[in-house]
Amino acid sequence: MLSEDEARARILDAVKTGASERVPLAAAFGRYAMEVIRAEIAVPGFDNSAMDGYALWVGEGLPAGARLSLKEGEQPAGRNRGLHVEEGEALRIFTGAPMPTGANAVVMQEDILISNGGREIHLNEGVVRGEFVRRAGSDLCVGQIVLSPGDRLTAARCGVLASQGRETIAVGRIPSVTVVTTGDELLPPGGARPGAGELYNSNGPMLAAMVRDVCGPDASLEHRHARDDASALATVLGEAVEAGRVVIVSGGVSVGEHDKVKPVLSELGVRGDFWRVRVKPGKPFYFGQHCSGASVFGLPGNPVSSFVTFLLFVAPALRIMMGATPGDSGPYGIRCHLDANATALENPGDRPHYVRGRLDAAQGVFSPTGTQQSHALFGLSQSNALLRVGAGETHAPGAPGKAFLF
Ligand code: AMP
Ligand code: MG
Repeated sequence: MLSEDEARARILDAVKTGASERVPLAAAFGRYAMEVIRAEIAVPGFDNSAMDGYALWVGEGLPAGARLSLKEGEQPAGRNRGLHVEEGEALRIFTGAPMPTGANAVVMQEDILISNGGREIHLNEGVVRGEFVRRAGSDLCVGQIVLSPGDRLTAARCGVLASQGRETIAVGRIPSVTVVTTGDELLPPGGARPGAGELYNSNGPMLAAMVRDVCGPDASLEHRHARDDASALATVLGEAVEAGRVVIVSGGVSVGEHDKVKPVLSELGVRGDFWRVRVKPGKPFYFGQHCSGASVFGLPGNPVSSFVTFLLFVAPALRIMMGATPGDSGPYGIRCHLDANATALENPGDRPHYVRGRLDAAQGVFSPTGTQQSHALFGLSQSNALLRVGAGETHAPGAPGKAFLF
């Protein structure tokens, strides 16, 4: 049985980043850059005022109490009006407006008094050279690297690309994903009320949501269901595998007689890389690949096991396929402390245990929620993080630990 780290390393090693495609900036959010972008224009592009106030020449500086004559005219943001100030003069200026020639500082309007019938300003505060002037290129110089391959397109990065006048960017393709749920006992939500022994299929919608969370709303995603029957499984899995899709199967990968997923995958020519990982919940996790390019992830059917193994193993793989670097593919741990009022968390077993709970990220405090069994979806739905309790470890109240926010 592999450790979590070994399992994840093998998956990340085996999956490939897809081809790149050029998308409009509006569609780039959440994707990963596949090209180096260097600044082609300086930002700011020209010296400009950081404040609404007055532009003036101060030499090295002017003391509080200095008086300057107020020049006629003003320079708002927008077209450069080509204005000029001499020593002893001040000119009305607004935030983002180009600096008039001759000026080397701005005094903000809150720091002056207008006197002499509007013809003079009087400084309430001293002003030093360069004050409230945003110099050309002070944020970005021409040639500076703005984005590198593997960088995720966050909102701010979309903004910085727009500030460079870019309309498109090369990003990694989004993988096409098929979620296959399995089980004779499962009913689609919206259908008849479950009879004895039946339950609604919750993993289908949950895993689809998790895929969208990682891959974005434009992911080519389908959800299919198969009964615990070799030929039904072979049909559904066969289509997805042969199409080279990412296949996320839930259920049917344990050791029972009705767990037919692995033999069917093997019949379909999927090479199993490993089965079973030292993790709780989620031990029967399976990973394999097909010559079509399909990667197949077999998740244990218990809802929390599916959720945890998706977070630990599938989400990082999807990010790599989209162009993320291995070092930034997750899962993303945060240092925290177990709530001082919680009961101690003991893990006498031989597998690390992921405990569901609420992480108060501001305080760095984790509080377990609900029952911790692997079918208990409600407790998971009340939580926002998993605390990792290593094999043989006990986390006393207040003890440090690492939680994975989702
Ligand atoms: P399995 O891994 O197929 O042995 O399933 C383990 C448990 O998870 C069983 O109690 C199943 O009923 C349950 N289960 C499997 N698939 C789903 C699903 N899609 N939605 C909800 N529960 C499921
Ligand atoms: Mg089953």
